[in-house]
Amino acid sequence: MSGALLVLCDHDRGVLAEASLEALTFARDLAERLGAPCEAVVIGNGADTAAADLAAYGAEAVHVAAHDLLTDYGPEAWGATLAQLAEAVDAVAVAACGTDRGNEVLAHVAARLDEPFVANCRSIEPGGDSWSMTRIQWGGSLLEDATLTAGRKVVSVAHHAVEAAPAAAPAAGTVSPFAPDLDPSLARTLVTDRVVLTQGITLSTASVVVGGGRGVGSAEAFAPLEELAAELGGVVGCSRAVTNNGWRPHSDQVGQTGTRIAPVVYIASGISGAIQHWVGAMASKHILAINTDPEANMVTRADWAVIGDLHQVIPAVTEEVRRRRG
Ligand SMILES: Cc1cc2nc3c(=O)[nH]c(=O)nc-3n(C[C@H](O)[C@H](O)[C@H](O)COP(=O)(O)OP(=O)(O)OC[C@H]3O[C@@H](n4cnc5c(N)ncnc54)[C@H](O)[C@@H]3O)c2cc1C
Repeated sequence: MSGALLVLCDHDRGVLAEASLEALTFARDLAERLGAPCEAVVIGNGADTAAADLAAYGAEAVHVAAHDLLTDYGPEAWGATLAQLAEAVDAVAVAACGTDRGNEVLAHVAARLDEPFVANCRSIEPGGDSWSMTRIQWGGSLLEDATLTAGRKVVSVAHHAVEAAPAAAPAAGTVSPFAPDLDPSLARTLVTDRVVLTQGITLSTASVVVGGGRGVGSAEAFAPLEELAAELGGVVGCSRAVTNNGWRPHSDQVGQTGTRIAPVVYIASGISGAIQHWVGAMASKHILAINTDPEANMVTRADWAVIGDLHQVIPAVTEEVRRRRG
């Protein structure tokens, strides 16, 4: 097998998912070590628009797949498309970001190609038929070393394993149309409607998250956290103890059964730092813990900690931010 490393780039009606740019950044480096071209794949309505930015991230070619059945997201049709393309270009490997969608599509690709699939890789050492990889398991609480032996490799890149970054110099990004042969039976699962729950900055994209746990004490007591988040251009997150108490909606929950966050700063107040919360927070670049307990997990793992009552500390931080801004 001598062909390209194909990277599925997911998009929302033409708007590229940041996660796909992470996968492309990761794959660009992998392709260089393989001595193979890194090529992007965009599928469905809006694919043309999404294709425009991919050269900057190192895509030598951008395969734009179009077909009457490829409108909005459909895992079976997208999987069949990607599998056919992999065979058509004799791809050495097929990759995507390890999001729900990325892993779902790659599962279909692997099944169609009759190859194994390794999900959520954090690092990959390529080497002939066998590649070594470290992958994230159990929601991020376990790192597993694995060896993948396969003709054509199918791998997903763990979300937040790398930061999306443009290539030092843009690649050719030659657009190449691809028309798959799709049977109508592949349209069994299709997006028919969407309800946007949050707009603008979200927990997963915010550069500042102000998190509150059981220590906050009530729904009303989140008001000072909202104020600080607004002052810093961020959003409020919370622990499961908070959602269990009905103080915040589940969409605000950080953790294994909530959202994985990767802000520049995570201010974790009144949160003990249980493993299920930590796995959702550990990709934060910096963590400031505010807690009355100096031995709390979140305190011992944080970059900075304030040992004190969050009800006093949070308003004081907000006031100081405002004072410095004049
Ligand atoms: C299968 C499974 C999945 C789970 N998924 C998640 C998940 O996705 N996200 C998640 O968060 N949890 C999850 N949990 C729950 C998790 O195990 C913890 O129970 C939860 O994270 C605890 O929340 P907490 O830190 O707010 O509460 P606690 O553990 O009770 O900690 C409260 C903290 O607040 C501090 N504190 C109290 N008062 C103050 C004050 N006035 N000022 C400052 N600090 C104060 C205390 O010292 C303590 O450290 C999951 C559990 C299971 C079993």
